[in-house]
Amino acid sequence: MNEMYIDGQWCAAQSGETYDAINPALGEPFGKIPKGGREDAQRAIAAANEASETWRKVPLWERSAMCVKIAEVLDRRQNEIADILCTELGKPRHQEAAFEAGDTSTPWRVAAEQAKYFEAHTKPCQDPAKRVLTFWQPRGVVTVITPWNFPAAIPGEYLPFAIVMGNTVCWTPAPTAAATAIKLAECIHEAGLPKGVINLVTGPGAEVGDEFVVNPGTHAVGMTGSPQTARIITTRAGLKPRLFELGGNGPVVILPDADPKKIAAAVASACFFAAGQVCSCAERIFVADNLKQEFVDAMVAETDKWKLGDPWDENTTMGPQNNMGVVEKIGRHLEDAVATGATLVAGGKRPDRPGFFWEPTVITDFAANSLVNQEETFGPIAPINSFRSDEEAWTFIKACNLGLTSAVFTQDVNRAWKWAEELDSGITVVNDWTHFWEHHLPFGGTARNDSGLGRIGGRHTLDFVSNLKTIVFNLGEPSSF
Ligand code: NAD
Repeated sequence: MNEMYIDGQWCAAQSGETYDAINPALGEPFGKIPKGGREDAQRAIAAANEASETWRKVPLWERSAMCVKIAEVLDRRQNEIADILCTELGKPRHQEAAFEAGDTSTPWRVAAEQAKYFEAHTKPCQDPAKRVLTFWQPRGVVTVITPWNFPAAIPGEYLPFAIVMGNTVCWTPAPTAAATAIKLAECIHEAGLPKGVINLVTGPGAEVGDEFVVNPGTHAVGMTGSPQTARIITTRAGLKPRLFELGGNGPVVILPDADPKKIAAAVASACFFAAGQVCSCAERIFVADNLKQEFVDAMVAETDKWKLGDPWDENTTMGPQNNMGVVEKIGRHLEDAVATGATLVAGGKRPDRPGFFWEPTVITDFAANSLVNQEETFGPIAPINSFRSDEEAWTFIKACNLGLTSAVFTQDVNRAWKWAEELDSGITVVNDWTHFWEHHLPFGGTARNDSGLGRIGGRHTLDFVSNLKTIVFNLGEPSSF
């Protein structure tokens, strides 16, 4: 069923327009998606506001039980979710797609659980006649805008947390991941969520997403995507609360006492998992000079282990890039790196097959002002530089204004601690890959960089989707001044 989901109904775009859903492993269309516009977004906003009146009054325990029901349907239909992830994103069916589909229900269970223990407080105060209590209340209608790279997982970072707190939702996915969003909406519908509580409109972000952002009928904006889009949303959202999960350019620092052979598989996985299309990827690697050659050799050996190919084949571990824009950006970054002094040591091109594939690639000795150092590549490139002093590594690291995740490898606790505290990223992992996160943990960028605003994860998302209401109860005489 390839339709949008508004007010509990499956529907086409009001204009009747559609666009092609593309299979990136073949570069060919596999279906049609409704091309929604502003009028569809407005219908969704009206439905969400109407549903808000009743949904916010449904007891929290019932809203929590509804999230568990949705989780159960997501679990039961996980093979369908994995199939669409493979078709629409080219995620290897037996590895990455199965993993994401199997984990899709987790945040729905986390939200269901955590909301029950999301306590507010009574507050002591100076005035002996007053009693002050705080309560969490829903914000109203929450806009949710999601990217294409984890189209089953990332909606779960917002939708269950919003609805369990009594909000209703207007959701638009990235156009190249809309079929997966429709599959999730089918599961939500099957679980029996009342109409209008979650509304899904597919179509261009600059129209559907923009309407969800500017329309006074929505009351908060949660978005995962690029810093460029977040800047546009910031100029359009007015005073609405915003939560942004944006790009990264994760530095990985390997100190002189690390064991290059032991850690190469973890670092390569941080570069190549999901064909490098993860915000928490290792995008730049700084290895102590004494370990350079051994580490580069180990990384090249690891590169050979990643099997790029048909995503339905059970031996495939790396699928295609999502679209030609991503492929072109990888090409541009690689060309720039080599033009500014880097050496290509593995991969470096598109393989000879249809679709949007790129070989796992290793380069060394990139320049501080190269694009791979300064911007997120979002592809399977492992850029490696060596350093003789910490200062030398810092010069490169600080030349970039992104910092979502980072990693440090060393057995020296003091140095690990110092690096972890000083790296400007929301998460620093010591002695493992950069991709560690669980749905109850805080995740996001820091105030000094462009990787995000606020935190998702467990009670942090609950915080974002809620207003803290203070009630002051007077036991004395009415006041006068
Ligand atoms: P994108 O910024 O192009 O699009 C993100 C979403 O915004 C899409 O749904 C798009 O349709 C919508 N959009 C586009 N223009 C809009 C506008 N004017 N108004 C409102 N909405 C608009 O990002 P993408 O290419 O889909 O995703 C890749 C990016 O997402 C990367 O930078 C990646 O690092 C980031 N990302 C971050 C996290 C995180 O948790 N920090 C997780 C995954 C991806």
